[in-house]
Amino acid sequence: MTVNQPSAKKELDLGVIVCKHCSQVIGTLPTNGYKKIYGFCMDKDCRPKDEAGLRGN
Ligand SMILES: [Zn+2]
Repeated sequence: MTVNQPSAKKELDLGVIVCKHCSQVIGTLPTNGYKKIYGFCMDKDCRPKDEAGLRGN
């Protein structure tokens, strides 16, 4: 008896990138299971304010 299953799995985007600030889903990643990754969306209120290089000294 042989189990005829395709060895190549379809990559599903189970990883979601969620904005730390507003919980908006920014994007997805092909991961090996459900994963939640925190990041920042494009909203100016959500982006980290102490970004290097943006200081006007
Ligand atoms: Zn956000």
